Amino acid sequence: MEGEMLKTRDIAPGDLLFKEKPFVYVLSSRFRTERCDNCLKKNDLLKCSGCHYTFYCNKLCQKDGWAIHKLECKYLKSIGPRILPDAARMLARILKILEKGGGTRKTYYDQDHCRTFKDLMSHYDRIKEDQLRVEHVTCLYGVLFEYFNGENVPSSAELMEIYGKMCINSFNICSQELQSVGTGIYLGASILDHSCKPNVVATFEGTEIVLRALEKILFWIGLRCS
Ligand SMILES: [Zn+2]
Ligand SMILES: [Zn+2]
Repeated sequence: MEGEMLKTRDIAPGDLLFKEKPFVYVLSSRFRTERCDNCLKKNDLLKCSGCHYTFYCNKLCQKDGWAIHKLECKYLKSIGPRILPDAARMLARILKILEKGGGTRKTYYDQDHCRTFKDLMSHYDRIKEDQLRVEHVTCLYGVLFEYFNGENVPSSAELMEIYGKMCINSFNICSQELQSVGTGIYLGASILDHSCKPNVVATFEGTEIVLRALEKILFWIGLRCS
């Protein structure tokens, strides 16, 4: 079980509700040489000798990040010294994860309920009517086509579906100083709806999302909707 549900009732303000590792995440490219690509922390960094693109705190972080980086290292090397836009890198990582069968990987957000990437909402119909979004995804399609040398790039309709899921379900990963340092998709936390008067706050410990109650909640899954 990736997500961990601690309590379902009598939750007091400040109580921990949920902690979850991301399904996928990327470090913002503007911090590429300042923060570790794996844990997102500021550190003296070592460069990946394969691509010369990603940087890590140490061998341990590099090893930790290899499960995902091995799917992109050769592509990042081939585009150097150019920098891949963050949205394209995130999409490229998602495409590779899906290619490896990760679309059905389950994350439990309580003892009985789980989600997979396939379960995420894409708002496809709304996105394909939004000119700005269509232009963005068309541009990303071109970037990804070049990045992958045209290999295994999905149709533009499939890419728009995945792009929709990414736009709707992404969280800004913030440092302890509340600076946005990356973007991540959390399958369990994606059940949360936006509220103008939220009763839950999301913070981050490294790449892990930490949800805490802002007020007394009887059943936290019954979150206030917008
Ligand atoms: Zn690190
Ligand atoms: Zn590399």
